[in-house]
Amino acid sequence: MTSSARRPLLNRRLAEFGTTIFAEMSALALSTGSINLGQGFPDTDGPQEIREAAVRALRDGRGNQYPPGPGVPELRTAIAAHQERRYGLTYDPDTEVLVTAGATEAIAAALLALLEPGDEVIALEPYYDSYAACIAMAGGTRVPVTLRPHEGTRDGVPHRSFRLDLDELRDAVTDNTRLLLINTPHNPTGTVLTREELTAIAELAVQRDLLVVTDEVYEHLVFDEAEHIPLATLPGMRGRTVTIGSAGKSFSFTGWKVGWVTAAPDLVAAVRSAKQFLTYVASGPFQYAVAEALALPDPYFEAFRADMLAKRDLLSTGLAEAGFEVFTPAGTYFITTDIRPLGESDGFAFCRALPERAGVVAIPNAVFYDHREAGAPFVRFAFCKQTPVLEEAVKRLKTLAG
Ligand code: PMP
Ligand code: GLN
Repeated sequence: MTSSARRPLLNRRLAEFGTTIFAEMSALALSTGSINLGQGFPDTDGPQEIREAAVRALRDGRGNQYPPGPGVPELRTAIAAHQERRYGLTYDPDTEVLVTAGATEAIAAALLALLEPGDEVIALEPYYDSYAACIAMAGGTRVPVTLRPHEGTRDGVPHRSFRLDLDELRDAVTDNTRLLLINTPHNPTGTVLTREELTAIAELAVQRDLLVVTDEVYEHLVFDEAEHIPLATLPGMRGRTVTIGSAGKSFSFTGWKVGWVTAAPDLVAAVRSAKQFLTYVASGPFQYAVAEALALPDPYFEAFRADMLAKRDLLSTGLAEAGFEVFTPAGTYFITTDIRPLGESDGFAFCRALPERAGVVAIPNAVFYDHREAGAPFVRFAFCKQTPVLEEAVKRLKTLAG
């Protein structure tokens, strides 16, 4: 018997993770012919001129060989210009910007670079599934702080959203806490952290001398009165914050896998040290196209947001009419619902049966929780789909109650 037969092949750090829920649910959508409102990818590609820019780069031989490790200069300059134009944040394209293979690699590289085994990472639960896996691969310990349903008002109208308990966050910090892993706008709840909440996070980070990794991939998808405020803009944060963005989310090219990190030079250098041994580089020609996308004028971003807002409203209304309790998202392209008004309580069982019952695929939020019971009745639907697709999904979901 070989030693590999005597112990599990997969190392114990990854043993608990299995296949991602997104792969499982997209496969289920395909095999059952269901409408896929599970995995968050748009069913319409991004701007035609940006696709053409990628074709041009390919034809002109730009990026067909390994691009520079930190990313092509055109893209790093465009990322810095975008942060400056939108948020007044100034980054040096040469020392403070790093291009990655999607935000996924940025998250992995940041955590692998900044954590020692035993370090604690505080993350807002429910959290995007790669956070837990990357913390584990880095040997860190995740410390979830749970966002909880909260009754509030928005524009004078009663409104339910998932909110952070700031005292719980403060209490979670120990002498072993190395970093706060923040995500705003937040997947899967659609919560956009307010200035007050972000200020409290920033004050805590400064007071306890913590690093902050902030996943802001949905920065362009904020609705109504909500405002996306990058954590790096708050006092004391510029030097301790690693900010992550993604062309997949901002320009609807999830298959291109272009993401980025902006941070102080020492932080970028650390993240680059890990990144160079993950992919080294990726997405050569697409980097040139994304440089052009980041320079698109404001009407692109406004139209993108308006389109998603209309889709949010269509699906939110439809889900409410179908009997779900809806947490109308202030950001992202996801809607979290509570299935208890439908007489259901187990989101996993509900999502596994939904293709058969209604021909629709959704994601059980419980997969994003360590405290599984806290997430049990919540189910996430993606609305980054064409209007007729959403209309058909709503029609199907309305058969559930009857
Ligand atoms: N962070 C969050 C919160 C996400 O929802 C996703 C999924 N798109 C990612 C990171 C990964 O982004 P990318 O596709 O650029 O790797
Ligand atoms: N971010 C997307 C989501 O939350 C999926 C990304 C993936 O499949 N890894 O649905």
